[in-house]
Amino acid sequence: MVTDIPADTDPRELDRADPLARFRAQFAHDDDDAIYLDGNSLGRPPHRVRDAIMRVVDQEWRHELIRAWNHWIDLPHKVGDDLASSMLGARPGEVLIWDSTSVNLYKLASAVAQAAPKTRTVIVTDDDNFPTDQYILQGVAEQHNMTVRTIHSDIDHGVDPAALAAAVGKDTALVCLSHVAYRSGAIADMTAITEMVHASGALMLWDLCHSVGSVPVDLTASGADLAVGCTYKHLNAGPGAPAFLYVRQELQSQLRQPIWGWFSQTNQFDMSGDYNPLPGVGGFAVGTPGIMGVAAVEAAVELVSEAGIDAIRQKSLRLNAYASALVAAELTALGFTLASPADLEKRGGHLTVHHPQAWQIGQAMHGRYVIGDYREPDRIRLGFAPLYNSYSDIRSAVSVMADIVAKGEQDRFDPTPGRVR
Ligand SMILES: *Cc1c(COP(=O)(O)O)cnc(C)c1O
Repeated sequence: MVTDIPADTDPRELDRADPLARFRAQFAHDDDDAIYLDGNSLGRPPHRVRDAIMRVVDQEWRHELIRAWNHWIDLPHKVGDDLASSMLGARPGEVLIWDSTSVNLYKLASAVAQAAPKTRTVIVTDDDNFPTDQYILQGVAEQHNMTVRTIHSDIDHGVDPAALAAAVGKDTALVCLSHVAYRSGAIADMTAITEMVHASGALMLWDLCHSVGSVPVDLTASGADLAVGCTYKHLNAGPGAPAFLYVRQELQSQLRQPIWGWFSQTNQFDMSGDYNPLPGVGGFAVGTPGIMGVAAVEAAVELVSEAGIDAIRQKSLRLNAYASALVAAELTALGFTLASPADLEKRGGHLTVHHPQAWQIGQAMHGRYVIGDYREPDRIRLGFAPLYNSYSDIRSAVSVMADIVAKGEQDRFDPTPGRVR
């Protein structure tokens, strides 16, 4: 259970008692004035991620040249196993670091569509799922003569299990949902939903982009069949770092992904014969992996593992508790409303607030060195990264937000949202 943290608590006291405070120095901060609350979109660079990329360039690539592939070739599997055991509750040989989240989602959803019995022609998702997920599922459905059934979810409170249960049945091949909603941070009950989906005979695919590195996940215990997720948000592996995919061991021989590349071919270097995919999770690989990216993920996973995902979640809950108290005490009177579940335990690592001038306030915050992000419609997301954000960061950010709105500073900014937001 999380205890409330009153709004008038001195944040320096909370920082002094913070067991993860020492991890802040593991990240590059040359703009020490900026309060960065957007680690849920792009984590700050850890020193060791840069060191890992430089090691690949300056030592492995430079000195070993092509011979380095003798060890590089196993790296996406090794790092997948590291990630699996340290924060996903998956077994060795179930997680692979490869491609992007979008591509991995395409591979796994297509594999299910291909294997589904003829009577199961529906893919279920929700209208609050991340747009790329919805587009990819629409494409897979079109290619397999299936349909997507999209249930409605409240954008502040997340998936309604009853609405989902009503939409899943004998015609359903696959259900795909985000574990932590990208906009509100609402956490879906992975075990209960997976059980319900299995009872209908469908498979369950979880998108873990906003969970991995932030919220403990137990894929084995929850019974999940498939999962995907990215490494550049809470894992801090860098812009566009390769994503991961998870295929439950028992399903690996039953599913075949649609992109038949040479890295999933048995006897890859024989350079001959017809496609015959590797058994195991290797069958879900495609072409040459970006080794600098995989090495970055390795270092990033190591850093999160050192802190421990349970300690990260504990601090995340406390940062959220403190921020919620400050929002209630200082921002609601200025027109902000909470756009995340009120119950902290049902919220991932970020807190979202609504304000009719959210875009302009966000621009004014940037001008005052407080970086959150804007999400449609009229929402500001504040991502709290337990490894580098302090309680003092949150105290300062809320003061800046209150000061901006109290003075009407946001009115000086163009109300039309920019292209990247
Ligand atoms: C960030 C995010 C993605 C991003 O997918 P990419 O292929 O990396 O662009 C997908 N799904 C969710 C839920 C996300 O939050």
